[in-house]
Amino acid sequence: MNHTLSILWACFDTTDPLFSASELASWPAADRNWLLESGVLKETTAAAAIACPSCQDGHVEEVLELPDSNPRRFFIPCPEAVRIEVDLEHLRQWTVDLDTVASRIAAALSLTGSVKPVSPGRLWRLGTSRMGPTSREMLLLRTPDAADGASIAAHIGQTGRPIVLFAGGEPPASIWPGRTPACIALSRVLSHDGSTLQVNALLLHELVSRADDLQSQMHAIPIDPRGKKLIVRRQLKAELSSHLADSNLLAAYRQHGSMREAARALTTERGTPITKDMIQRAVARAGGAKAVMNAEDSESVVRTVASQRRDRGAKVIKTRN
Ligand SMILES: [Zn+2]
Repeated sequence: MNHTLSILWACFDTTDPLFSASELASWPAADRNWLLESGVLKETTAAAAIACPSCQDGHVEEVLELPDSNPRRFFIPCPEAVRIEVDLEHLRQWTVDLDTVASRIAAALSLTGSVKPVSPGRLWRLGTSRMGPTSREMLLLRTPDAADGASIAAHIGQTGRPIVLFAGGEPPASIWPGRTPACIALSRVLSHDGSTLQVNALLLHELVSRADDLQSQMHAIPIDPRGKKLIVRRQLKAELSSHLADSNLLAAYRQHGSMREAARALTTERGTPITKDMIQRAVARAGGAKAVMNAEDSESVVRTVASQRRDRGAKVIKTRN
């Protein structure tokens, strides 16, 4: 099957992949059956012209239908035999059902989510795959080297480090608006075991991580001002959230009067472990236990941490007004 699969990938990017009845007949029966039964190949219009089956030079002639024949009869003109009758079976043709191929690939990769065509016949969102600690979106890109390759590639976007699968030639680097995504050839990671498409997950992960590494090296250059701003903003946000956490830790300490009790109550309330040491450090940052207990807003002692949080939010709005 893997030979037939390579034929499929080789013609996947052609404008109108077309297989004649004689070509299909030359494939192993099991391969042919799978391609037809899985819907990868679908029948399309019958051939309008064929090569003469009786002459050595295989001259190509238009197929003509014998008028008023029942059942229908077809022939081609031939300089040697005047006319050659052609069996309708021999005129049947098949093309590749691109959407089915996209679905089959997504199924083989056990992706999460459903297959969505982004640009019909050119780009599909196949779903997401777990790669180590992150989830990566996988896409299928067809004929990336066409004149409009860049405008099709622009749909992919830059977020979430997408993985782009391709059948034919590797997408040219010029089509990517920014960082080049990990581009993986289907022929390298997919095979056929006689009944279904199989994926070599180990190789896929290795190829993706190799592509990622390459891109990291390519982009290991000083960050632009916009990137720096983003990092600063992130840092600020982290500081703000830690301040908020401190105020909650202190409020719980005041309420329960004991670091151990405060830690236990917060752990229950938040659903994440809050240790006695975390309370202790927050108290130390706030000037020690005595200072915290005598603090101005000690009225919050009788309130729950949650209500105190809401009050703080309201206070902020008030001062802004
Ligand atoms: Zn002939």
